[in-house]
Amino acid sequence: MELTGIAASPGIAEGSAYIYRNPDLTITEKRVDDIPGEIERLRLSASSAVKELAFLKESVRSRLGDEFAHILRSQQTIAEDDSIIGEIEDRIREENSNAEAALRHIFEAYIVLFAELDDGDYNKSRVADIKDVFNRILRILLGIPDANLSNLPQESILIARELFPSDTAMMDTDKVAGMVTELGGATSHVAILANNLGIPAAVGVKDIMDIVQNRDSLIVDTSDSEKALIYVNPGVKVRSKLEKRKTAIEKNDARIREDQDKPVITRDGLAITLSANVGSTAELVPARDAGAGSVGLYRSEFLFMNSASLPSEEEQYLAYRKAAEYFVEGFVIIRTLDIGGDKQLPALPLPAEDNPFLGNRALRLTLSRPNLFITQIRAILRAGAHGTVKIMFPMVSGIPELEAALDIMNEACTQLEKEGIPYDQNMETGIMVEIPSAVWVADALARRVSFFSIGTNDLTQYLLAADRLNSDVSDYYRTFDPSVFRAVKEVVQAAESHERWVGVCGELGGNPLAIPLLVGLGVTELSMSPRALPEASWLIRKTTLKEAQALADRILDLDKDNEIRAVLHEHYNSKE
Ligand code: PEP
Ligand code: MG
Repeated sequence: MELTGIAASPGIAEGSAYIYRNPDLTITEKRVDDIPGEIERLRLSASSAVKELAFLKESVRSRLGDEFAHILRSQQTIAEDDSIIGEIEDRIREENSNAEAALRHIFEAYIVLFAELDDGDYNKSRVADIKDVFNRILRILLGIPDANLSNLPQESILIARELFPSDTAMMDTDKVAGMVTELGGATSHVAILANNLGIPAAVGVKDIMDIVQNRDSLIVDTSDSEKALIYVNPGVKVRSKLEKRKTAIEKNDARIREDQDKPVITRDGLAITLSANVGSTAELVPARDAGAGSVGLYRSEFLFMNSASLPSEEEQYLAYRKAAEYFVEGFVIIRTLDIGGDKQLPALPLPAEDNPFLGNRALRLTLSRPNLFITQIRAILRAGAHGTVKIMFPMVSGIPELEAALDIMNEACTQLEKEGIPYDQNMETGIMVEIPSAVWVADALARRVSFFSIGTNDLTQYLLAADRLNSDVSDYYRTFDPSVFRAVKEVVQAAESHERWVGVCGELGGNPLAIPLLVGLGVTELSMSPRALPEASWLIRKTTLKEAQALADRILDLDKDNEIRAVLHEHYNSKE
């Protein structure tokens, strides 16, 4: 059987299906007579929870570093707390309650208690910790195995309805051969993660959770960027067809990697900066190995997402400093917290919004929480003392919020100065251009910052009013729409008139079809998932600026995305 979807990360993966479902933790209240037996059940479940947390803590520490392990440490402390377990035991005894119901009763009381202590974000993160521990003990009591993706079989093809950062935080990435989700678009979290890890992924594959069984043999073919094909229990014919395709891809890869250490300059001498998009300390090494000289987008929110409590200034500083030191010969652009929309923080539960993508997200959210914001800015400024760090604000719609952010940054500098803590006094500031209004006030923005980085993932979604995550409107989310390139041109012109540089850090920046066009439009920095770097470098070395500019002129005259794609394909195929 063959299923189709959207190619989100390229390649061909083979493995066996691992179906990931969020467990059903429904509780039935029951009267029990065997009180000692029920207490024993509770104790065993709590101690298994402690063991699971200890194991996870160690595996997270070794994979991602100490800064990520602290959330599990604090959860372990809750699960080990004799006084909480004692209260649940009392409830079992007094009410003849089953362990599940008693556990819920006591934990709910703690959740209410902490939620009511209106002590800012710290208690919100304690609430998230308590809820997580409650779910873990409950899951064990209900006899449901742990499905946190930290313990996957070898060569798994992970199948899920949707995958959020909180699901993948613990994922044992070495065991994942491919990923397939029913929902999502080409720039959703799972797509970005899969690209960064070099794992083939498909999204928008309808009904796969119902069609595929655990351990079915699967091949995910996303080698064609237009469409993903998923073969369920494929036969010999399909396998041999795909073997041939794999060989052709390997041949192309070898061609691209020839001379890959040469400087990234066009044939007529224009240097283009190629940098990597990263989301964690663990991604720094593969980024540099793939040829990145700098980090063009450090998505700092992942440091927060992997954690049930908010990382402190010190923890953030250490993580950013590691990046600055690792890329000491280049630069690291750290983007301040970009949450809301599709990205939620366990440590900072946000009120539900009817329109989260148009709501209190990214810079708007951090401006509404100055303590959270200033803590992060201080950490970034301090990391700047150990390398070249630049700070970048996400989701800027206009001048007022940019000025508000710059005021907070000044305040952070004043504080560090007074405290005598070393920091970068001349840190460059930049913004993401991803809200269409920013395109039209780019001139005024350019007067206030040093650089722009165009976030084409969101810019496309907002220009075309097509949700980047919704596979039902993926045909309207037109990556190659003329409006996107006209916007890029507008931004570059505004930036150039103030001698500012422009980069692209959305997925388009690493798209081989788009690269010569972006260079022709005047973009001088491209930041992408590390796996896209070798081909980007090869393409630039094969192009002249003159030719790229002619291509841009030709594209800007076209009206439709399919015409643009056709011209770009033709141009790409002319390179050998
Ligand atoms: C973008 O919007 O293009 C971008 C790079 O940011 P993110 O994908 O993290 O929203
Ligand atoms: Mg964005």
